[in-house]
Amino acid sequence: MHSVMRLGLTGGIGSGKSTVAHLLTQQGAALIDADALSRATTAAHGSAIKAIEARFGSAFITPLGELDRARMRTLVYQDASARHALESIVHPLVQAETTRQTEIAIQAGMHCIVYDVPLLVEAGRWRSQLDMVLVVDCPPELQIDRVMLRSGLTRTEIENIMASQASRTQRLKAADVVIFNGHQTLDELAGEVRHISHRFGL
Ligand code: ADP
Repeated sequence: MHSVMRLGLTGGIGSGKSTVAHLLTQQGAALIDADALSRATTAAHGSAIKAIEARFGSAFITPLGELDRARMRTLVYQDASARHALESIVHPLVQAETTRQTEIAIQAGMHCIVYDVPLLVEAGRWRSQLDMVLVVDCPPELQIDRVMLRSGLTRTEIENIMASQASRTQRLKAADVVIFNGHQTLDELAGEVRHISHRFGL
C-alpha cells in the first residue's frame, strides 16, 4: 500500500480552518468533515435517529424525521448525562463513517487525508488516528470580525462559543504544524498552504 498522511486540521471558530481545508483539497488532499458527518447522523432518517428516539423519546424527533436540535440543545445544556448519552450514540456512527471514508480515499490512491475536526483538541479521541495535527491560528479579535461578517451572530454570542472551545494556548500546544492566519490576504494564505503542503505528502 502507498503511504498515507492522516492530517488532523483544527482551529477556533472563524480561524480560517474551512478555508485551509478547501485549499488542501486543491493541493490534492481528500477531506473528511467531522461536523458534516455528525450532522448527517441526525438529519432526516439519519443513522442516529432511531437510537435517539429510543433513548430520549419521540418528542426529540421532528415530523420530518430529524433531530429537534433546539430541544436537544436545551436538554444537554442542563444535563451532562443526556449529553453523554447523545454522544455515545453519535460518536461511534461518526467513527464508523470516518473509517469507511478513509478506506475509500486510500483505495482511490490519495496520499493525504485531511480530517477537519473543529473540536479535535477538546475531544481527545481523534489524536490516536492521526499522523499530524495542523492548527490554524488566528488572533481572537480577527476571529470575531470574520464570524460577524459571515454570520448573523452577535459579538457576545461569538465570544461565548469561543469561551466554550479550547483556548488558543491549548490548541497551539496540540499542534505539530501551525498556519498563522492573521492579516494576510486569502491569496497569501493560499500561497502559504501550497508552500507547506509537501510536508503532508502533497
Ligand atoms: P472556520 O472554518 O475556522 O470557522 P472559515 O475558513 O470559514 O473559518 O473562515 C471564516 C471567514 O473568514 C470566511 O468567510 C473566510 O472566507 C474568511 N477568511 C478566512 N481567512 C481569511 C483571510 N486570510 N483573509 C480574509 N478573509 C478570510
